[in-house]
Amino acid sequence: MLGGLCPQRGWIEDLYRDLHAHPELSHQEHRTAALVPDRLRDAGCEVHEGIGGTGVVGVLAKGPGPTVLLRADMDALPVREETGLPYASTVTATDGDTEVPVMHACGHDVHVACLAGATTLLAQARDQWSGRLVVVFQPAEETADGARAMLDDGLAGIVGDVDVAMAQHVLPMPAGRVGTRTGAVLSAADSMRITVHGRGAHGSMPQAAVDPVVLAAMIVVRLQTVVAREVAPGDPAVLTVGSIAAGSKSNVIPDHAVLQLNVRTYDEATRAAVLAAIERIVRAECQASGSPAEPELELFDRYPLTENDAGVTGRVAEAFAAFFGDRAGELPQQSASEDFSDLPRAFGAPSTYWGIGGTDPDAYARAQEAGRVAQDVPVNHSAGFAPVVQPTLDTGVEALVVGALAWLHR
Ligand code: ZN
Ligand code: ZN
Repeated sequence: MLGGLCPQRGWIEDLYRDLHAHPELSHQEHRTAALVPDRLRDAGCEVHEGIGGTGVVGVLAKGPGPTVLLRADMDALPVREETGLPYASTVTATDGDTEVPVMHACGHDVHVACLAGATTLLAQARDQWSGRLVVVFQPAEETADGARAMLDDGLAGIVGDVDVAMAQHVLPMPAGRVGTRTGAVLSAADSMRITVHGRGAHGSMPQAAVDPVVLAAMIVVRLQTVVAREVAPGDPAVLTVGSIAAGSKSNVIPDHAVLQLNVRTYDEATRAAVLAAIERIVRAECQASGSPAEPELELFDRYPLTENDAGVTGRVAEAFAAFFGDRAGELPQQSASEDFSDLPRAFGAPSTYWGIGGTDPDAYARAQEAGRVAQDVPVNHSAGFAPVVQPTLDTGVEALVVGALAWLHR
């Protein structure tokens, strides 16, 4: 049936370039979302719009069989595009109270175009499969709350039971390639804002103060021991204090300090242990300093662990190997995070999440030759991230169709 991709290629590429030139920030994906429903209706889907803000859902039912959910995220990032592409974004948008440049720097435009294309192909090949296809165009992946917003807005009631859920991401690996991985594929992410309290005083009178600057500094140093001394060497974890703020003048001891940190883990037990260690250290350092009030610890921007089910991943990997041959392989564990898993968790469905390449294969080979992949291949979220149109889009469409048919094929 993928012989039928050729007639679709033109509009899928046009849709991709249009999306790329018109990126929208998280929760603002109105234009993007408006481009999807007509395509879904043409494919014969029942369409639901405005789910969780801008989310769009298409349902295509064809006889008895399993329900397969495919998901694409739609949002872009506050990045000024520097790809030099003829269809590069010059768009700006309002983020809070500031005007920011916007760019599809994470490739979610690829995801939307590929899922729209895959839905059309699957609709045209209805005689070859049986079951139910659910396609989800999700807002706000980059702010970690788009999947949750759709669920809170009644997604489960629209979709019903789901047997398997799948999603993909375009990554800085050679275009044309697909990669699968069993187990933890993306990290869980947690951000924490910590406010510690001191007692303010004149800078010349430390005896009258509890200095939150020194307290915060001790916390930063002590936190370096969490991963180094409390996590097993083979268990990857990252703890970064990305922001520390206190005081306003050299001779005034302030009365509080605020730290912001970010944690990445690949195992729920490790995640819980690291978060507990942070709280233990913060409270103990506050006590050690004689802090006059309990610290406040507030978690935010939390991404679930993306853990691929072994059975689902094995079945998809087998289907990929049969279709893509040596273009299918294993995906290395990624340090990024995703909120996709909120969907399969809510449905109690097993899931898998795979990667597709977006880098020009020749450019990738040259970088590899020079030992400069990390330096020379633009990565997601960078101003130079520019997936080549082909074979990236064909591969993304094919991967979704092949993945879905691994369940739906008669
Ligand atoms: Zn991203
Ligand atoms: Zn992304």
